[in-house]
Amino acid sequence: MADFETDYLIVGAGAVGLAFADTLIDEDPDCHITFVDRHAKPGGHWNDAYSFVALHQPSATYGVNSLEFQTEHIDEHGLNKGLHALASGTEVLAYFEKVMNLRLLPTGRVDYHRLCEFTGRDDDGIARFKPILGGEEKTVNVRRKVVDATFYQTSVPSTHTPSFEIASDAQVVPPGELPQLWKRAHALPEHYVILGAGKTAMDTGVWLIEAGVDPRSISWVRPRESWLWNRAYTQPGEDFLEQVMDMQLALLREASAASDGRDWMRRLGEQGYYLRIDENSDPDMFHYATISQGEVDLLRRITNVIRKGRVKRVEPGKLVFADGAADIPQGSLFIDCTATAVPFRVQEGARPIFDGDTITLRPLHVPLVTFSAAVAAFLEANFDDDATRNALATPGPLTDTPETFPYAFMVTMMNRGAWSQNPKIAAWLAKSRLDLAGPTIAKLIAENSPKLAILAPFQQAIAQHMPSVVKLGMQAKAVHEAK
Ligand SMILES: Cc1cc2nc3c(=O)[nH]c(=O)nc-3n(C[C@H](O)[C@H](O)[C@H](O)COP(=O)(O)OP(=O)(O)OC[C@H]3O[C@@H](n4cnc5c(N)ncnc54)[C@H](O)[C@@H]3O)c2cc1C
Repeated sequence: MADFETDYLIVGAGAVGLAFADTLIDEDPDCHITFVDRHAKPGGHWNDAYSFVALHQPSATYGVNSLEFQTEHIDEHGLNKGLHALASGTEVLAYFEKVMNLRLLPTGRVDYHRLCEFTGRDDDGIARFKPILGGEEKTVNVRRKVVDATFYQTSVPSTHTPSFEIASDAQVVPPGELPQLWKRAHALPEHYVILGAGKTAMDTGVWLIEAGVDPRSISWVRPRESWLWNRAYTQPGEDFLEQVMDMQLALLREASAASDGRDWMRRLGEQGYYLRIDENSDPDMFHYATISQGEVDLLRRITNVIRKGRVKRVEPGKLVFADGAADIPQGSLFIDCTATAVPFRVQEGARPIFDGDTITLRPLHVPLVTFSAAVAAFLEANFDDDATRNALATPGPLTDTPETFPYAFMVTMMNRGAWSQNPKIAAWLAKSRLDLAGPTIAKLIAENSPKLAILAPFQQAIAQHMPSVVKLGMQAKAVHEAK
């Protein structure tokens, strides 16, 4: 006899597990859900994030389907001016707490075991978890499925282990320590060294400059240059539909013109759909980070850029690389922004999304992880067998480079194509706040708006360029899988 009974045991109460549960609880009004999670509060890695973290995509299309963020207005000032607001880390945490406490638990059909480690499932369907702070292992009779909402293995600076050595007298901190510097105003660092080339490093650069640090007092170790999504083209709502469609058209058009993924992104970058900090670079990295032109302009003021590959060792006054070293001012504070958020590589042995008694929440519309989880819940509740569900849910890859990104784009387009052909899914997407254009298009159709003309070229472009998207995508898949 197990300690608990449930229909779905969701391992992970982060953004992805919550987005899945939020849709499932509506689509399957009889099911019971149990969450098991290591963290003390819902929201997963957002509990460990640096204090000045924010979403890099609009709040309006993040989170769960049933609940809006408080911050869904258009920003009227700052580096995101004119665009949909981005919730701060604390707002994201408060949001997920609300999802759990005011939306899911009051249904009476959800149990939440926090500070617990999932330890596996036996052949007879009995799952086990252990309270981390003490107490006996518990058993759960899972009547239907275990849902793995840990696939993304999100890593953040405060919890990851740096891959470089640190001399005992070197000052290395995660970015979350920076807002505490006021406490040592009498002994501030003489120089700042940002380690890492991803979005956390960019947030850190922006934070330091906005806090008043002279950009000449900042060095930035950027092993690779990155393409970045221009946030202006990722905006929901009627007012932005034209520019969103403009980018979609460009993605399709340039797929026919490009020789490979690198060429494709270069062409799109030259037209402003993607941004890069160093305009003279030909970036080797694309991790789906989204940024505004204002942030890029600010970051360009940091000109002490060290491009010697990955750091191997940090010493006071010195950075050691595989191939050489760089002198750094004495008294520098090194800021570790090298956590990789999610593993951008082939996930060996990853299961299909629907696989018998297990659901693994993987990306369907790359890189929209909460939207993908909500779609998976809809498929689970509304289709009868795994073969049908998987045919509508090809897992997208988390690609690492411009060369490999067409693979992710191809899978996204194929999934979206399949969903648009299925009236049940299409009707649901038309109401989904997590879908960038679905509700806007549905509204325009309901109003028979003349703005629907914006969509006509898109239909033609799909027919014309989809073969090129597939060709580029398959070429990129081969590169991704060879790495
Ligand atoms: C700084 C940052 C900003 C981001 N901004 C955006 C954005 O703007 N838009 C966007 O779409 N994405 C963004 N992302 C991507 C991000 O990965 C997702 O938004 C999302 O929060 C990931 O949620 P998750 O549920 O997959 O992972 P997590 O937040 O890591 O949640 C997984 C949970 O599973 C638990 N867990 C794992 N293993 C076990 C186990 N064995 N037993 C019990 N519990 C377990 C963990 O404790 C954790 O709580 C961002 C990522 C980072 C790092």
